[in-house]
Amino acid sequence: MSDLFNLAGALQEREAAALLRRRTAVVRQGRTLLVDGLRYLDMAANDYLGLADAPVLRQAFAEGIERYGVGSSASPLVTGYHEAHHRLEASLCDWLGLEAVLLFNCGFSANQAVLKALLGKQHLLWQDKLNHASLQEVGSQLPCSMKRFAHNDMAALERQLQPHSGLIVSEGVFSMDGDEGHWPRLCALAEQSGNWLMIDDAHGLGVLGPEGRGTLAAHGIAASRVNIHMGTFGKALGVAGAFVGGSRELIDYLANFARSYVYSTHMPPAQAHAVQAALTWVRQADSQRAHLSSLIARFRGGALAQGWQLGESRTPIQPIIVGASAAALQLAEQLRARGVWVTAIRPPTVPAGTARLRITLSAAHSEQDIDTLLSALEACRE
Ligand SMILES: *Cc1c(COP(=O)(O)O)cnc(C)c1O
Repeated sequence: MSDLFNLAGALQEREAAALLRRRTAVVRQGRTLLVDGLRYLDMAANDYLGLADAPVLRQAFAEGIERYGVGSSASPLVTGYHEAHHRLEASLCDWLGLEAVLLFNCGFSANQAVLKALLGKQHLLWQDKLNHASLQEVGSQLPCSMKRFAHNDMAALERQLQPHSGLIVSEGVFSMDGDEGHWPRLCALAEQSGNWLMIDDAHGLGVLGPEGRGTLAAHGIAASRVNIHMGTFGKALGVAGAFVGGSRELIDYLANFARSYVYSTHMPPAQAHAVQAALTWVRQADSQRAHLSSLIARFRGGALAQGWQLGESRTPIQPIIVGASAAALQLAEQLRARGVWVTAIRPPTVPAGTARLRITLSAAHSEQDIDTLLSALEACRE
């Protein structure tokens, strides 16, 4: 029966190549994970500021539920758009200097919604080769023609660009490498060529720039120079959901033509309320960001001294590039045996031959946690 879709064959092929994925049920508490009764230091999450389990957010979520119930009850164009969503939109505009924003249930659908709603067959779409799966996938299915340029290779992008033809999309902070897009150059190229520019700043928001305003703010770039801003609430903001921001006209257009916005139940208002609390907290979290930076420096210093190959990253995403998938899996296993939970990231999530440990640090970690990680790594090296 499964012959029809070749399920077993596909799974066996993945297993043979050390690429099979398995899920692990965890209980997350603070900066630790409980798995099968054992406690691990969590160095694999995207909870860069330690908000996912913070008392301030637990309280805000509970307060939101008390006030608004648990569900939004409809899509946003029916009765699913609540006062709490409206307030969060206004706060996001104020934080990032945007004219208008729209909330989505997740970043994956937000990215797809935007590209689908905008790009017709007359358009071109340029994407960095390391853009997130949500961007790559939809790009290859759209009627427009998609060009992918080598990671951060601005000269390659410039060669591919055609005037007034479409949209350039890149990330603020790249999710598997932790390095940043070349935003000053991206802005200049978009402006010179008369094309639109979109940033996915899922990993920059909350972490980089004054008030955690993200990659553009960290480079002193005015929000108005980028046509489309996308960010998520499930990473540094500790909750879940996403937004798309830009001009009032863009947002009005998306609210009419983005099908996964129009035809999907809106996020629970209690969740919007919790995100609002996270945002208020994040804007004031300069000391937590400074602590995080010092942990990043401590980790890099120690790991480089041990001879590991790290990425060019000043962000909490600190990959150790291993190469072969099986070797990355083995290293992750060895670290787990020493009480540190990290994930091996393998193709097709990353390019072939660049399997890695994706270590992520958090402001919830202590210097001692970094030292625990470093001594575990040192033991694996031997
Ligand atoms: C996580 C992520 C997304 C998807 O966001 P979700 O809210 O988790 O669906 C999109 N883009 C990038 C770069 C991401 O890292």
